[in-house]
Parts: sequence; C-alpha cells; structure tokens
Amino acid sequence: MTPTADPTQKRPLGGVLSVEGLDALLRQLQDRGYLVIGPIVQDGAVTYEPIASHQDLPRGTGDEQRPGMYRLRRRDDDAFFGYASAPASWKRYLFPARSPLFRAERSEGSIQVDDTPPVQPRYAFVGVRSCELAAIAIQNRVFLDSNHPDSTYAARSKDLFVVAVSCSDPAGTCFCQSMGTGPEAQAMFDLRLTELVGGSEHRFVVTPGSPAGEQVLAAVPHRPATPADVTAATEVTQRAKERMGRSMDVTDVHDLLLRNREHPRWKDVGSRCLACGNCTFACPTCFCSDSEDANELGTGAAVRTRAWASCFGLDYSSMHGGTIRTTIPGRYRQWMTHKLATWFDQFGTSGCAGCGRCITMCPVGIDITEEVKMIQESDRVKTTGEMQ
Ligand code: SF4
Ligand code: SF4
Repeated sequence: MTPTADPTQKRPLGGVLSVEGLDALLRQLQDRGYLVIGPIVQDGAVTYEPIASHQDLPRGTGDEQRPGMYRLRRRDDDAFFGYASAPASWKRYLFPARSPLFRAERSEGSIQVDDTPPVQPRYAFVGVRSCELAAIAIQNRVFLDSNHPDSTYAARSKDLFVVAVSCSDPAGTCFCQSMGTGPEAQAMFDLRLTELVGGSEHRFVVTPGSPAGEQVLAAVPHRPATPADVTAATEVTQRAKERMGRSMDVTDVHDLLLRNREHPRWKDVGSRCLACGNCTFACPTCFCSDSEDANELGTGAAVRTRAWASCFGLDYSSMHGGTIRTTIPGRYRQWMTHKLATWFDQFGTSGCAGCGRCITMCPVGIDITEEVKMIQESDRVKTTGEMQ
C-alpha cells in the first residue's frame, strides 16, 4: 500500500474483472506470497479471515445495523460485497488485541530474555471500505509518524496490499460521507473494486491506485472498462451516498466540545453508558494498550503481553494516589472529546472515520452522532438564542 498515494495523480482507468477474474486476482496475490484476508460469514456476522477463492465470500449476504443491533440478512441478489462494515475491523491484524512483548526464563543462574518479534505474514486485505482505509491512515499516524514508531505495527503494515471495495449499501449507523471518508475510496488502495451485480454480467470495475496494483492487475485477465461500466460504477457510489444512515456536522465540533466540558448531556449519556468498553474495542482507530505480566505454570517463565485497553475502564486513569477519572460521564466525555476534538491537537486529524461500529456495538445503543447533535443544538440556542 502507498500510504501517501496522491488521489489526484492520473492512473490508467483500469478495467473490468469477471467473477473468474476475481478468483484469478486472489490467486495472483497468493502466488506473490500474500496471506489474503477477506470477508466471510462466521457465527452470524461478517468477519475478516483468510480466504482462498470467491466461494469463501459472503455471497448474497447483507446486514442490518442500528444502535445496539447487528444482524445479517439475505439479499435479493448475489453480491459478494453487499454488506456494510463488519463488526470487527482490520485493526485486529495490524494492532492485534494481544501481542507478545517478551518471555523471560531463569536458566543456569541467569535470566534469558527472548523478545524476538514474531515473523509477520505479508497481508493482502480484500474488501476494505473507504472508512476503514481512513481508520488505517489514522492509526498509521498514531503508530508510525512519531519519534518512536511502533515496531510491531510497522512490521505488520509494511507490505500491506489493499484491495478496496466501494460501498454499495451503507448501514443505518454509517456516516462516512459527512466525515469526508467515503463511501468510495479515493486513496491508500492498490486496487479498488466496484461491484456491478444484476444485468447480464456480474462484474467488478477495477481501478489501480499504486504501481503495485497496476502490476497485479496486469497479471490478471480483465477487459477494458467501457463508458457504460464507469457510469454504472459511479451510480453505485451515488446511490450509497443517498442511503447513508446518519450524518455528523463536524464544522465546529472541535471548539464545540472543548467549550462544553460542563454540558449536562455528559451526565445524561453517562447515566446510560455501562462503561463496558465495546465502543473502544470495536473502533478501528482506538489505539490504547496496557501490558500484562503472567507466569507460565509449567516453566515458571515470565511473559509480558501487550493487550488492548479501554478509556472506559476505571483503572485506565490510575495514577499514583488513585484513579483520576472516577465517573462514567467523565469517561464518556474523555472518549468522545478525544475522538472528535483533541485528536486534532495531538495527531492533526479526527479520531473518527464515521464507520458507525461504536453505535452498532453499544449494548445500550448510544449514538455518537446523536450526542454531538444534542450538544450542538443547545450550544446554538445558548450562543445565538435561536430556538429549535
Ligand atoms: S468513533 Fe465510532 S464511528 Fe468513529 S471510527 Fe470509532 S467506531 Fe467508527
Ligand atoms: S458507550 Fe456503549 S459501548 Fe461504549 S462503554 Fe458505554 S455502554 Fe459500552
């Protein structure tokens, strides 16, 4: 993947792949040594796992997503990529929930420490949505663009090959369009597919986004795209925009949240929030982690592991003398204000890609777009006297 790919750079139009061509693409990636990860149906959800051919894909599967609700549905067509974002994001491959840091064992009077990083596969992600690419870009900034790049993340993302897929059916919880992150990937992909289903030919309009993508496409049977193919692909994106489930007005959100630290809405949302941390674990941009030490029972060796952490946990803000963020309203405010405001100060970008996972996966259906809207409306009344 070319993280800084210039979306304005002119590239060949690409072409059109048949379903057999899609299989040839997957084989081509495998032949080039990639571990190909793509969507499958598992345990009643779309999940990203190793795939071998189009037969592994969730053909004819769509989804319904609302605050606190996710379920699969049968589509009335054979689309392979007819679902919205999967509950678990690609984060689990680039920044796994648990990763080993070192193992230390006493041996002949000394302590042997093994901190050799595990060998990482070269990943090819197939079916990445534009909001998910935006989330990977955000995590790249956090983990790589610093004086102390994260070596685990760097090793996992170094050779990433991305096959993006334009969204055709956003979920009820999606709001990528208002965040400027979708529904069509504009950059950071090696190849972008737009699936055209129905009519006489089930096909994919394919656009290369990097030299690596051009090379792979050249090795896969495809035909040139006709103006009719390009128009049909544009219509897929246009329809997706019209069916976006939610939106967020982000024009003033940074200053809005910082001048409303004492807003009564924080108490309101805090009274509903269970502090379960689901939103942070499902979020493709949340990056906090803790380290855990354990002893192996058989050998007595000490093992240190990096594990995801959530700012909703009571001990997350534990410092000498105790926890400083003791209330749930305070923790929700910290999470949302960081995502939408202070993330800009820290990393120069929003911490939200508009994927909607935190809304779908919240057991009590708390909706980040609604929380922003409520503060916006009362702030407008306060600052302009305007009644809603
Ligand atoms: S805050 Fe919510 S909508 Fe935004 S990227 Fe995270 S999970 Fe997606
Ligand atoms: S907002 Fe929802 S998902 Fe997040 S911690 Fe609170 S109850 Fe859990």
